[in-house]
This record gives sequence, structure tokens and C-alpha cells, in this order.
Amino acid sequence: MKVFGPVPSRRLGRSMGINNIPPKLCTYSCVYCQLGRTRRMEVRRAPFYEPREILQETEEKIAQTRKIGLSIDYLTFVADGEPTLDINLGDEIEMFQPLGIKVAVITNGSLISLEDVREDLAKADWISLKVDCTQEDLWRRINRPKPTLQLEAILNGMLEFARAFKGELVTETMLVRGVNNNRDCLQEVAEFLERLQPAKAYVSIPTRPPAEKWVKIPDEESVNKAYQIFTEHLDKVECLTGYETTDFLPTGDPSEDILSITAVHPMLEEAVKEFLHQAKADWSMIERLIRQGQLIELHYQGKRFYMRRHSTR
Ligand code: SF4
Repeated sequence: MKVFGPVPSRRLGRSMGINNIPPKLCTYSCVYCQLGRTRRMEVRRAPFYEPREILQETEEKIAQTRKIGLSIDYLTFVADGEPTLDINLGDEIEMFQPLGIKVAVITNGSLISLEDVREDLAKADWISLKVDCTQEDLWRRINRPKPTLQLEAILNGMLEFARAFKGELVTETMLVRGVNNNRDCLQEVAEFLERLQPAKAYVSIPTRPPAEKWVKIPDEESVNKAYQIFTEHLDKVECLTGYETTDFLPTGDPSEDILSITAVHPMLEEAVKEFLHQAKADWSMIERLIRQGQLIELHYQGKRFYMRRHSTR
């Protein structure tokens, strides 16, 4: 399934996810990625799915969601990889516009130096760009980009995009203990964001199981330090340090719902239990999916998460 949810989003309210990329195709292989390591790294844009098929699946999901009395705040491109690798992204956003629901894209911004990518993203209502680090060596260490990518071109592309974009632009900076949570790095990111002028800069921490076991959540003191440094340069800064609510709601076949949500969004045990309760299903469904090798259980920060099995884990 290319469309999943709606899922509760810390930034977008109730968001229906659009997964427009095959697993797991990305320009980066971030050390904290919740989807595991990137086995297929790519920087060339290509068509993956037929846009009409994505539209049809989205319309069906919207109808199912409305049937159970729920509204949707955003249709969000949040893929099994980097959504701007999809050469049809702009067409897909345009196709969604008559549906009357705002469109969001969560991108790492690595292809934003390309004019066609900027043109596609400009069609959305809300864009989130990843800015973990503005120092070349640390960027390569934390985001592990495809070697041909150049940080300077990406940062310039972001600035060019921000100057022209009419929608809401936000940024996300993921802090990884011992990598990018030092004062020097945060200060440089804050200065760059001041030039970018996002509507809001989010500071986040890896709350879901990361690709690399050594990745650790920074302590509260360093999250606060990041927040303070950012607010010296920006009006609106918010920390995303909690877990989502458990408000995942079933819209159709519960096992299909669980697999499509957890393909891009590992779910906490409590959220799975609440989902099963809403779907009038029980834990045996989860055990069956684990037995069949479709779902895996992960342990992180003393909590249990469930995620669709990718070949990368
Ligand atoms: S966190 Fe996003 S940008 Fe980084 S590797 Fe995972 S999918 Fe790609």
C-alpha cells in the first residue's frame, strides 16, 4: 500500500501518509534512520509508481476515513526513503489539490539544488527540510550522503527555495549525542536557519529505534542548550522530544493498516494495543505478523516498538 494512516503527527495533526518511494531508496543513510540502513542509495530522480494509482488509493483511503467520522489535516509525502527522488512528485501534488486537503512533504532537502525539485516542492502547502548539520565532516558522519552530493549546493538550494516559497516552511534538526549536539555545530546551524527564516525550527531527538545501535539520545541539558542557541536566532523553535499519542485509527483491514503504518513509522507497544482495541482485533494478529516475518519487535530506550520488516534490518 502506498497510502497509510491517518496517523497522529506531532507537527501536522492527523496526517494521511503517502509513501511514493519503494523501500528503502534514499540519498542519505542517516545513522538515526528508523527504517534501518539504506541499501539502495540514489540521487537520480525516476518514476516509481503511476501517479493515477496513488491518487486512486488516496481517494479510497480518504473515503474510508471520512466514513468513520474522521477528518484529515494533511496528505503528507513521508516515504520509505527520500520523496523528491520521485520524478512525478509535482504531478502528484497537483493531482491532490482538488481534494481540498493541504499537502505536506517531509524531505531531507538533499536534491533541492535541482530546479525541478524546487518547482515540485513549491506546489505543496507545507515543507519540512532536514538541517542536522552545516559542517561538511559532521554532515557526512550523521547523514551519510551519497558521496556525489555536496553540502554547499544543498544549503544554497534551501536558501533559494525559501526565498520563493509561498507555503509554510519548517526545518527539523535531529540531535545525536556526541555528534552534532556540541555548541559549535548548533551555533552554525542556528546561523544558517536565521538566513533561511523558517516559520518554525524543530529540534528533535531519535525517539524511535535507529539504524545504528551506537546512536544515543542527547540528555535534557543539551536539548535545552540547542533550544536556547536556536531561540537567539529564530522566533519560533519547538522541541520534539516526546512520543506521539496512541491515536492510530483503523480504516480498513487492521493487519494491512499496521503493516503500512509501520513501514515508515515504528509504533510503540501502547499504540499498537490501542489500535487493536479500536479495530476490535487482538494481540494474536501481531504474533501472526511476526511469525510470518512481516513485522518485527524492536527494543529501544526501555520501550517496545513494532515495525514492518525491511530487507535493511
Ligand atoms: S532519516 Fe530520512 S533522509 Fe535519513 S536515511 Fe532515513 S529516510 Fe533517508
